[in-house]
Amino acid sequence: MSKETYEAVVVGAGIVGAACADELARRGVQVAVVDRDIVGSGATAAGMGHIVVMDDSAEQFALTRYSQQLWQKLRPGLPDGVEYEQCGTIWVAADEEEMGEVTRKREYYAKQGVPTEVLDSQRLKHLEPNLRDGMAGGLLVPEDGVLYPPCAALFLIERALERGAKLRLGASVLQIGQGRVQLSDGSEISAQIIVNAAGACAPELTPGIEVKKRKGHLVITDRYPGFLRHQLVELGYLKSAHSVSSDSVAFNVQPRRTGQILIGSSRQYGAEDKDVNNAILARMLQRAQEYMPALGPMSAVRSWTGFRAATPDKLPLIGPWPADKSLFLATGHEGLGITTSLGTARILADQITGEKPEILIEPYLPSRAAKEHVHA
Ligand SMILES: Cc1cc2nc3c(=O)[nH]c(=O)nc-3n(C[C@H](O)[C@H](O)[C@H](O)COP(=O)(O)OP(=O)(O)OC[C@H]3O[C@@H](n4cnc5c(N)ncnc54)[C@H](O)[C@@H]3O)c2cc1C
Repeated sequence: MSKETYEAVVVGAGIVGAACADELARRGVQVAVVDRDIVGSGATAAGMGHIVVMDDSAEQFALTRYSQQLWQKLRPGLPDGVEYEQCGTIWVAADEEEMGEVTRKREYYAKQGVPTEVLDSQRLKHLEPNLRDGMAGGLLVPEDGVLYPPCAALFLIERALERGAKLRLGASVLQIGQGRVQLSDGSEISAQIIVNAAGACAPELTPGIEVKKRKGHLVITDRYPGFLRHQLVELGYLKSAHSVSSDSVAFNVQPRRTGQILIGSSRQYGAEDKDVNNAILARMLQRAQEYMPALGPMSAVRSWTGFRAATPDKLPLIGPWPADKSLFLATGHEGLGITTSLGTARILADQITGEKPEILIEPYLPSRAAKEHVHA
């Protein structure tokens, strides 16, 4: 069987692997990308494509803001099919208690230089007339945006190829490590650097990494142009994203350029089948209708599921895996991998090529979670 050699091999052509390959190729690294499926077929095909700054922790804020700014820089060069729209996010406050969270978030973002606008009940209704009456208000974050993730991944892969990268699709990787990538057809690729960007499947290739599958459901409607103008997320979303044990749903809707409305979202641990769970779907749609009653009679054209790669501390794993000096990780992005793909690629490539990162990388290093494997 043949044996190819590269400086770096990226396993996984989701948006994270695509961004890493593109960034490595830009820096002159001879890189190949391998995926058992097509480009952007995993969580990338299932995700919502909300490019969002989040502040659950300072570390999460740093990576999401850095990445969002990289998307903004990239925006003029993105093809139409990526459907990038800077529509802004409105964090919807249902009651006065949630308005307290609006104030906290506004102050935090202001300190970090992120523009926001506090909306009272009337202004919220003016901006989004289809929200139910009686909402307390919200926080508009105008620099957030949305895009169509599989096309964004394809754009990044195509740019990597123009920069000299190689791509092998339909090639299942059985094992990685010690500078070797073994494929199911019996062939092998050798590389000084191997990047595990296999998303929620990353632990199958690097046993011991603490990434769990977190299932999510989405629904897309028929075309209703003008119905929705911003990505709307309930402030209760944070409770849903933080819940570590139970199944949760939250109101999270996105306007697509086609006029369709993408409705999310759910979170489940321990559900590893791809099937749509009707009970979860019903809860999710019920929640959406509580916020936007006019969604009720709309026709839905498709529903599907996908798996987020969740880590215990809710931060991704980006950098060398201490147990193997050829191995780097770029996984564990949970519900933010579309947003943080570009920042991930930058700081991963910085570590590989020895350049100075623009943000602190320590919070994302796999070594934080791998002490026992180093000494094992
Ligand atoms: C319902 C839902 C909504 C989401 N919404 C958002 C959002 O609004 N904004 C946001 O930023 N993020 C969102 N996310 C998260 C985002 O989709 C993921 O974080 C992101 O797509 C992860 O990309 P990835 O490249 O790491 O993984 P993936 O896209 O899963 O790619 C991994 C690739 O590795 C390949 N692979 C795996 N194992 C092997 C193997 N053994 N051999 C060869 N190839 C292999 C797979 O075929 C796949 O192509 C959402 C996720 C879900 C599920």
